Amino acid sequence: MTGPAGAALRSLGDADLAFLQGLPKAELHAHLNGSIPLHTLQDLATKYGSPSENLSVDIAGTIARLQSGFILTEISDFFTLFPAIYALTATPAALAEASRAVLDAFLNEQATPDGFVINQPAAQCSFIELRTTPRATAHMNREQYLTTVLREIKSFPGRAALIISVDRRMSETDVEECINLAIKLRNEGNPVVGIDLCGDPLKGDVGMFERHFKRAKEAGLGLTVHIAETRENTEAESHALLAWHPDRLGHATFLTEEHRALFFADVPQPNTEISPSDRMPWNPDHPLHKLFLASYKRHLDRILRESTEPEEARTHLSLHIDADKGARRAAVSEVEALVNQKAARGQYKPCIEICLSSNLLCKTVPSLEAHHIRYYLANNHPVVICTDDTLPFRTTLLAEYALLLANRPVGLGLTRAEVKNIAEMGMKARFMAP
Ligand SMILES: [Zn+2]
Repeated sequence: MTGPAGAALRSLGDADLAFLQGLPKAELHAHLNGSIPLHTLQDLATKYGSPSENLSVDIAGTIARLQSGFILTEISDFFTLFPAIYALTATPAALAEASRAVLDAFLNEQATPDGFVINQPAAQCSFIELRTTPRATAHMNREQYLTTVLREIKSFPGRAALIISVDRRMSETDVEECINLAIKLRNEGNPVVGIDLCGDPLKGDVGMFERHFKRAKEAGLGLTVHIAETRENTEAESHALLAWHPDRLGHATFLTEEHRALFFADVPQPNTEISPSDRMPWNPDHPLHKLFLASYKRHLDRILRESTEPEEARTHLSLHIDADKGARRAAVSEVEALVNQKAARGQYKPCIEICLSSNLLCKTVPSLEAHHIRYYLANNHPVVICTDDTLPFRTTLLAEYALLLANRPVGLGLTRAEVKNIAEMGMKARFMAP
């Protein structure tokens, strides 16, 4: 184990380690293919990585490196593994072996890792919602992929469940198939508990998926989305995703102040007047005033952009009463729509899935001190601590918790009571009823 989480774990004394080990913890954001232990990949490479499989030179090269016990150090080395991982888990037998190893690493007691003074062997967590994108390969279709993973998950009854990930690069037909399978498998009594939106954060058009996610929700599945993961994700996209009312949000690193304010705003209860004239969002005292301003500016820009007036008149137009009125009207109805949604459902407080090492190593967050977890904790907003991909980030759930407890600047320097509270929030955020 290397990186910031390993350093935090090494900095703790025995009593703190025993405390962390003893906490009931839920892992709710772990990708199956990014969590396969390296030794399992090496086993799979030896067993199944035969050259007859027509693998590309790159993949064959990676598998050869795995077979030779090549030591990976850089994070980029680990990301180059993914095409090989997909090749190595393309058969039901290999996928089953990989799933078994991942569940074992999270849920079964592990021996003390080298170099760590841990009193007792302990499991990383008490409960896991493992996520994976079903892949059709030459050896299995998407349903066989899912039933293979589910068979392993079912060997931990009540302790493991499956979230089906939909990749942003998928076609709508593929998304529809994945959601249909999720609903079908759930109705057949399998522990399928949720749907996730994942994949390259800058690809795809999320609007295309909306009706399928709604269907999943209506069927009783939990929703989680990777949202505002990079600086380049637009505010408009976050807005669209939040309108689905996901139960949990992955990362949410670059969610704007205005969007965060939605979770904390004092929302009128159902049957109360939502916006009497003195409480309109253009009033600076209105809790959603900032959101109004952002929305107003966006609509004004759009109205000006779409204007057919000649260039020089357009700057003038920004003062024009019609453009101003139009933007104001659009912004008010946008804010009201969100408030109405919230009023209908009560307070909207989606749990934020926090992956500290992942954010630090992918450099979306410059330091622990600057991490958005501080903001959510300060506002008493639910979070859950997760690993994302233990293989490339060389971490464990225990080590991620060590980042909370370790003294600053190695960790966040939280108290044991605060860490216990965070672990409890995570257990409460499970899609699967306890
Ligand atoms: Zn993720």
